Amino acid sequence: MTALRITGGQVHDPANDVDGEVRDICVEDGKVVAEVGPEARRIDARGMVVMPGGVDIHAHIAGPAVNAARKLSPDERRDQPLDRTDVLRSGTGGLVPSTFATGYRYSLLGYTTVVEAAAPPLAARHVLGELRDTPMIDKAFLILMGNNQVLFELIRESKGQASPQLRDAIAWWLQATGGYGVKLVNPGGVELWKQSNGQIDSLDDEVAGFGVTPRQVLEAIGGAAHELGLPHPVHIHANNLGIPGNVDTTLETMRTVSGRQAHFAHLQFHSYGGKPGGQPRSRAPELLEYLSSHPEITADVGQVMFGPAVTMTADAQVSALLRDLGGGKWLNHDTEVETGCGIVPYSYKAGNYVHALQWGIGLELFLLGKDPWQVMLSTDHPNGGSFLSYPKLIRLLMDRGFREDQMGRANQRAIRRTALTDGLDREYTLNEIAIITRAAPARRLGLRDKGHLGVGADADVTIYHDRADCEEMFATPRYVIKGGELAVEEGDLRRADDGLLLSSRAAFDPEVSRVLEPLFGERYTVAFEHYPVSDPALREPARIVEANG
Ligand SMILES: [Zn+2]
Repeated sequence: MTALRITGGQVHDPANDVDGEVRDICVEDGKVVAEVGPEARRIDARGMVVMPGGVDIHAHIAGPAVNAARKLSPDERRDQPLDRTDVLRSGTGGLVPSTFATGYRYSLLGYTTVVEAAAPPLAARHVLGELRDTPMIDKAFLILMGNNQVLFELIRESKGQASPQLRDAIAWWLQATGGYGVKLVNPGGVELWKQSNGQIDSLDDEVAGFGVTPRQVLEAIGGAAHELGLPHPVHIHANNLGIPGNVDTTLETMRTVSGRQAHFAHLQFHSYGGKPGGQPRSRAPELLEYLSSHPEITADVGQVMFGPAVTMTADAQVSALLRDLGGGKWLNHDTEVETGCGIVPYSYKAGNYVHALQWGIGLELFLLGKDPWQVMLSTDHPNGGSFLSYPKLIRLLMDRGFREDQMGRANQRAIRRTALTDGLDREYTLNEIAIITRAAPARRLGLRDKGHLGVGADADVTIYHDRADCEEMFATPRYVIKGGELAVEEGDLRRADDGLLLSSRAAFDPEVSRVLEPLFGERYTVAFEHYPVSDPALREPARIVEANG
């Protein structure tokens, strides 16, 4: 493998307290090393900015929902398609690009690791197949557990506690699927909605027929994930997404899990005051205040970007709501026993009160938060906007003049109801951008080899021109190095690597099969012995991250 010396760049490696110092980074056999020999290839990075490769903690890039979204928007596929070359496959473009195009485009942006945030475990084969076909990046996926009827049975038996049996079942599920972490989407609420079109009024509402409540699901599964010592804590999409007044549910959810590690997804969509059915208001500052006294909780923002999006969620109830708001085409899907799913192509308009408020709330979360390690960058791709809009989002954070110009184009009644007009002059530094786009997500994911450039780190390195226009700077890195090899040079892909599948593993008592098998027999159309993904071709090349490792 190649040895490389990246010389003279301005290095931003916040995990190692390096803030813009000029130093060399040496790379050999896919890792950052202290020194390389004189024969090593040199990359002259003088006048350039060097960061670890980007890490996306929450996006939707593989599995049945993503595939269905492609089918729902055939008109989009010709938007920036990719042509076949000697090195690369062809691919379709748009908001939900084909698998190969997704990998290439993340790589072209300097991202080297991406987490698919919502995989139905029953669809693990499909998810793994698509992730294998998503080149250049390392990837992990989180498995949906918040509305799983078999887990509901175990939670009811344990009276809402994280019993040893529940811990074993969760560890079994991770092993059966190759998943990396545990995701709760509208815990209890999707099943409730499927049964009765009902909404959650309180975390103590009972899911009919199961004798469990959202609070018990949060406590039992969140507690079990915590006790298993998984590298990434429970990843929560709280109940009542998008509904005015939902901030009370979000705060109650945070209190329910407090004292345990937890990550809250796309917090912007959960920050609303007002009354259900009425107009939302921002209550983002209250959430930030809660976060500031609870370092065990982190979040990503789920920024809305004006323009087209595709809402795509296991929270089928939200999709029904968006359809009623005039979303047009709608797809709803039930994954037996495990989850729902809804997809609505959508467009966020600057002149629309609600959309402008959502945009403003996302920026409040970024700009009013005190600790960038706690609030990370995401657009919940493609829900708030495409990952391709990250450079523009970075400019909104780094460039006050640009932000104010964009504010001026948005619905003023909404903008006046945010803190953005109160002389909010914060501009993110390069180091803060490095925190929210790589160092913090990697740390939160428990990926010790990623998100930093210390000796022993994976040699995933992105080198940017130091440009005044930071949107252009982050849209077109000068070089991207993935696993120690030069992947991108001045906007051109140089090679097509597979990238690793990142899975996690926790020990469990195999006797748990005796408990699960009859429950599977009662509920699933798939036989228990056929459920785990055993085909190594789907699960390689892999890196296993051990719980408590
Ligand atoms: Zn999401």
